[in-house]
Amino acid sequence: MSVQRPASITDAFLQKLVARVPSTSGGTWKLTEVYTGEVLVELPQSTPADIERAFVTARAAQVEWARRPLAERLKVFKRAHTLMIDNATTTADLIQVESGKNRRMAIEETCDPPMVISHYLKRAPKLLAPTKRGGPVPFLSTSTEIRQPKGIIGIIAPWNFPFATGISDAMSALMAGNGVVLKPDNKTALSPLYGISLLEEAGLPKGLFQVVCGEGPDVGPTLIDNANYVMFTGSTATGRVIGERAGRNLIGCCLELGGKNPMIVLEDADVDDVVQGALFGAFGNTGQICMHIERMYLPATRYDEIKARFVAATEALSLGASYDFGPEIGSLVSVDHRDRVNSHVEDAVAKGATVVTGGKPRPDIGPAFFEPTILEGVTKDMLAGTMETFGPVVALYQYATVDEAVALANDTDYGLNASVWGGDVKKAAEVGRRIESGNVNINDSLATAFASKGTPSGGMKQSGVGARHGDQGLLKYTDVQNLAVLKKQVMGARPGQDYDKYVKSMLSGLKMMRKTRIR
Ligand code: NAD
Repeated sequence: MSVQRPASITDAFLQKLVARVPSTSGGTWKLTEVYTGEVLVELPQSTPADIERAFVTARAAQVEWARRPLAERLKVFKRAHTLMIDNATTTADLIQVESGKNRRMAIEETCDPPMVISHYLKRAPKLLAPTKRGGPVPFLSTSTEIRQPKGIIGIIAPWNFPFATGISDAMSALMAGNGVVLKPDNKTALSPLYGISLLEEAGLPKGLFQVVCGEGPDVGPTLIDNANYVMFTGSTATGRVIGERAGRNLIGCCLELGGKNPMIVLEDADVDDVVQGALFGAFGNTGQICMHIERMYLPATRYDEIKARFVAATEALSLGASYDFGPEIGSLVSVDHRDRVNSHVEDAVAKGATVVTGGKPRPDIGPAFFEPTILEGVTKDMLAGTMETFGPVVALYQYATVDEAVALANDTDYGLNASVWGGDVKKAAEVGRRIESGNVNINDSLATAFASKGTPSGGMKQSGVGARHGDQGLLKYTDVQNLAVLKKQVMGARPGQDYDKYVKSMLSGLKMMRKTRIR
């Protein structure tokens, strides 16, 4: 089928973007336009030696970068913020062409790095300033908490939000004085490559932000072995591999992993709001958002009413392969992924679940399209009952009591996101607190938590280790240095001093310090 490709996507532009990727082997990967399956560009693949060289280059640039005063470093990000917004359309073109998502989601994704930059431009000066703490001997000693950059941060990013995960997580790392080596997914390397070119246009030193490309198991080991910290976003299975290797190397890592996210609708919820929220929560980004909703728990008393409205709204959604704002639902990222999503639906049906609506691939629209799908009767012996489907597939369940709904929501190894809907916000928030999940949205499905850049966002249980955003979203990229000063040598007995007397005075000093609150 023919789809009018955006005018910005020219061969010359794409060649310029991928020229940044080191590859001495000459090996390439065919990066395709998702809507058509046509090859867009041959993406160079990096060898272990290429990756090691990328680290050497980044390290040389990082030494100079870390020496620059923070205010000077931050000026680069102020300019980058403007450039990213001014070039949002081109970025969205690249995101769409490589991921197949619809226009609305592509444009919304371009907003993420500017939001993260805005937050840390305000917060970084406070977080990175040396903090004076009391020393052990009042008045005669001080201890200062100093934040040193870790060095080079290895970032491994998935395909579902390639620009956001590739660029946003690097912003606080760079502000803190680090360099970055990024490994995007092969399928979606173009938009992060473009983001880096915008950062360099804004004044980021050349060489500081490197990109290496290849299949995960080929690139991962060398990347992790050379990095001082690893920021990983992807599946729980891969997260385990990354965490193990980082642990062996005694470096820290942040793991942002998968979810099987529940939505609980309380009896007093507004049905219009619930349906709108569920449409985005279940089918936004074609169901490929780590925080998206795969399980909906409805009160038995309102099940039929809410189900009927949700099904009707789902059936009214428009699917399409187009670079304008027309289609409400875009493609899945690849035919392989479409097959995985389809296998979850087929497995559920074979084991007794019912397809209420959707349930089929749509090759008539594009190679990787799949219908928004609502299932009933999903049980834990089905793939879709426990595993993350990561597609536009949601299962409906009824509950009799709120306690039962909470227990069902928590009956999962994951804990990334949850959503609770109710007319009484206080009551809904009380229910939300009982869910074992790193993010809980009240009367929204996911965006409110993710867009709150001041609060750490991460997963509980098997959904992750650590968090992005908030103070720890920057501090994790730093080492703490405790710079302690003793102005006069008073610790220990003085020469000739009776040790018993010294001990008595020391112990009474300890008592006095507690009473006077001097540390
Ligand atoms: P994935 O784990 O297969 O791949 C993620 C990245 O890791 C890719 O760049 C891949 O090439 C790389 N990789 C794969 N194996 C590797 C290895 N052995 N060593 C090093 N790197 C390796 O995940 P995916 O299918 O690309 O992405 C979808 C998953 O990501 C879903 O589970 C989704 O929930 C999750 N996700 C989580 C968040 C979050 O913030 N928690 C955000 C987006 C996506």
